[in-house]
Amino acid sequence: MTNSVTTDIAIIGGGMAGASAGYFLADDAEVVLLERESQPGYHTTGRSAALLFEGYGNAVIRAITKGGRPFFESPPADFSDAPVLSPRGGLMVATESQLSLLDEGLADSLATGVHSELIDGDALFDVAPFLRRNVIVRGLFEPGAMDMDVNAMLQGFLRGLRAKGGQVQTDAEVISLTHDGRVWRVETRSGTVAAKTVVNAAGAWADEIAVMAGAARVGLVPKRRTAFTFDPAPGLDIARWPLTAGADETWYVKPDAGRMFGSPADQTPSAPCDAQPEELDLAIAADRIMTHTTLEIRRFASTWAGLRSFVADKSPVVGFDPRAEGFFWLAGQGGYGIQTAPGIGRLAVSLIKGADIPSDIKVAASDLAPDRPGLG
Ligand SMILES: Cc1cc2nc3c(=O)[nH]c(=O)nc-3n(C[C@H](O)[C@H](O)[C@H](O)COP(=O)(O)OP(=O)(O)OC[C@H]3O[C@@H](n4cnc5c(N)ncnc54)[C@H](O)[C@@H]3O)c2cc1C
Repeated sequence: MTNSVTTDIAIIGGGMAGASAGYFLADDAEVVLLERESQPGYHTTGRSAALLFEGYGNAVIRAITKGGRPFFESPPADFSDAPVLSPRGGLMVATESQLSLLDEGLADSLATGVHSELIDGDALFDVAPFLRRNVIVRGLFEPGAMDMDVNAMLQGFLRGLRAKGGQVQTDAEVISLTHDGRVWRVETRSGTVAAKTVVNAAGAWADEIAVMAGAARVGLVPKRRTAFTFDPAPGLDIARWPLTAGADETWYVKPDAGRMFGSPADQTPSAPCDAQPEELDLAIAADRIMTHTTLEIRRFASTWAGLRSFVADKSPVVGFDPRAEGFFWLAGQGGYGIQTAPGIGRLAVSLIKGADIPSDIKVAASDLAPDRPGLG
């Protein structure tokens, strides 16, 4: 059965980007969110490491994460039954030859007003007793880094969107976009939506959606990242270990519901697709983790991969396209799209309304614009 809907704003993509923007936009606009899959969050959103790490990413990402964090710390009462953040801590660790990377990380944290400290000796191995003492010499510890309940966040945004009168359509792949000079006609596999504004929150597919709309690509590159879980040796008390990452971003681990999560932190360019892990990446990850830690990886309990999509400068792309009227970009969230969701969602509302970016999010519209220099 097909249906036809008229609305203010049609959002393409039911991942964290589309859901969070829809939640904030629905405060004073009619919103219809269109998701191709039968399950929102099926692609990158459902495959993350779920850490809010404020010192991570470039200056734009750090500023957006910082501005958005209070929403996740105290969301509205009806957002989630339980807190969506829980303490974890984030630790970047260095071998002797990588020490300068920690100094750079510390400078970034200080510049953003994030509390991080360099630790070594007993302080380091108390926090992360599984590190190899003859290999790792120092760490940069962000005690305030938090685990995120990604599913609770996604469901909170979607429930709120519906409660404010918005609609969520699943199995609604967008197959054509035309503008009649006044409104967009969005054709999906299950019907059509007429909307003044289209929000392109299609994750790895955002450049394909732009081409469909007659806008130019921003040069988005989806990059595959592999992840897996494994059982720690019996008797290890892993619950309070922090997410621990090599300072050169070639491996990381964190506790995950009684198991350990691991990744080779790979960034292999890929076409937009339902990403799958490759045996070689899994083997590389196991080797790197066992080189830097005393953890034993005998078998993988589960394996998966997801696409982290970046443009050239690794900042998100948020703003109206100058070539396609009413076509708004919400893409390029890279490896930070969960932690930045409330910040990006709120600033997207301002930009769509033509208002100033909220003063607690210290970025300029020009940092995010789809036509900024270097993209395409
Ligand atoms: C291994 C891994 C670890 C990560 N760790 C973290 C972390 O610790 N912290 C963090 O903040 N971030 C992390 N990320 C990044 C984060 O997951 C992403 O930035 C975020 O999920 C991107 O959300 P999105 O909504 O843009 O994309 P997606 O979740 O991929 O959503 C896009 C949606 O658009 C839909 N779509 C595409 N084309 C169409 C169409 N034609 N019609 C309708 N719908 C369409 C897709 O089906 C999809 O559901 C990680 C990612 C990976 C892979």
